Parts: sequence; structure tokens; C-alpha cells
Amino acid sequence: MNCPVCGSQCKKGFIEARSHGTATRECWYPASEEDKLHKRNGIPLYWDNTAYYCERCKKAFATFDNADITNNGIV
Ligand SMILES: [Zn+2]
Repeated sequence: MNCPVCGSQCKKGFIEARSHGTATRECWYPASEEDKLHKRNGIPLYWDNTAYYCERCKKAFATFDNADITNNGIV
């Protein structure tokens, strides 16, 4: 994949969260929810992902599948 910022070729990999203790659920939220304490319209994500890293920009980009196919995938 080419970097969406600079167009350079990215390295293919994955993103892995490292946590200790309780399990977490990753969600995507619309930008309008960013500053809200109680966020709505989240889309739960599977942790299995494909990620790309651009060495030029020092940025990572990833694709995640929606983990909840019920309720239109919105929590
Ligand atoms: Zn780049």
C-alpha cells in the first residue's frame, strides 16, 4: 500500500495492543464524538488487522473489520 500522506511504499504488518489486566474493546467513532464523555455511534472492531507503516512519515495506517454484525455494527 502506498502512504495516503506522501505516496511512499509502506511496510505491511499489523497492530497489536499490549495491556495488563482487563480486556478492552476497540471501537471506531465519528470525529464528532471525540470530546464527549459518553461516546455514541461506535463501531466495534476486531483486533485482527492489517497495518502499514510509512518510514518517511513515521505513521501507521490500519484496516480493521467490524466485530459486531448485529445492530448494524453500532454500539
Ligand atoms: Zn508517508
